Amino acid sequence: MSRTLKLAAVIGAITSLPMAPSVAAAENLKVVASFSIIADFAKNVGGDRVDIVTLVGPNGDAHVYEPKPADAATVGSADVVLVNGLQFEGFLQRLVEASATKAPIVELSKGGEVLRNSEEEGHHDQEKAAEGGGGHAAAEEGHEEGHHHHGEYDPHAWQSVHNAELYVKNIADAFCAADAAGCDTYRANAESYGQQLDALEAEIKAAVAEIPEDKRTIITSHDAFGYFEHEYGIKFLAPEGVSTESEASASDVAALIKQIRQDKASAIFVENVTNPRLIEQIASETGLKVGGELYSDALSDKDGSAATYLEMMRHNITTIKGAILGS
Ligand SMILES: [Zn+2]
Repeated sequence: MSRTLKLAAVIGAITSLPMAPSVAAAENLKVVASFSIIADFAKNVGGDRVDIVTLVGPNGDAHVYEPKPADAATVGSADVVLVNGLQFEGFLQRLVEASATKAPIVELSKGGEVLRNSEEEGHHDQEKAAEGGGGHAAAEEGHEEGHHHHGEYDPHAWQSVHNAELYVKNIADAFCAADAAGCDTYRANAESYGQQLDALEAEIKAAVAEIPEDKRTIITSHDAFGYFEHEYGIKFLAPEGVSTESEASASDVAALIKQIRQDKASAIFVENVTNPRLIEQIASETGLKVGGELYSDALSDKDGSAATYLEMMRHNITTIKGAILGS
């Protein structure tokens, strides 16, 4: 299978070579990505056949993003719009309507293993931790597009590398549908990037294995790492839920501090997309030292330590492991 795809890509490249630069430049696929992590996946799949515009850029918080007037024009002229889905992009519906776009809106989490948001029932992440990561939803839930229960699922599915591989496959499918001539290239790119994702996942598992099991409870500001917890066995507690939209109450914070003491949390981290103040307060009340910055819902800018998805995941596990084992 892989050999066939690669061969096809090579033949395609050879036969189209003389005309390729000007044709590609004239016919690049216009792709809009809702946020930075998806843009990075799209770049890896699309290569130089696509032009990508990112709505919520590096270090941006998509939960609370307010679209700019220019965003409607950008979406309106797109060939393909790539989004996470699972109500991560609260701004999306209104923006798509305002743009009157004809482009397909492709929900990349579709078909993935989706975790239910246990907060939906009025509990906090303490409850999810007690259940061992929350319930699973069937992959087909994406068909229920009519529902508007805010936050029914945990949207941060990219924090599992396994799901990231699905995002990449969904992007290749979407690009093939929009640009059949480039399909062999997209499939070959997706496959070689998929191999890097496989290697990344093995690295994360090896790093977690070096952390003693009784030290695998850590704190972040919002509940963005449920998939990481589910896949890799690090337990995350957070004062804020799966969306940064609503702030943690005083009683949420008090309950969390109690739980941090009970569970003997090993480290506490700030996130690039959230205000560090609350985490600093919890750190000082519990005597935990802030172990660094994790990248949850956005990449860093290109000079930062998480400019790509691969760098982000490596940075996160290295920072987590370093803070736990160093303390
Ligand atoms: Zn989030």
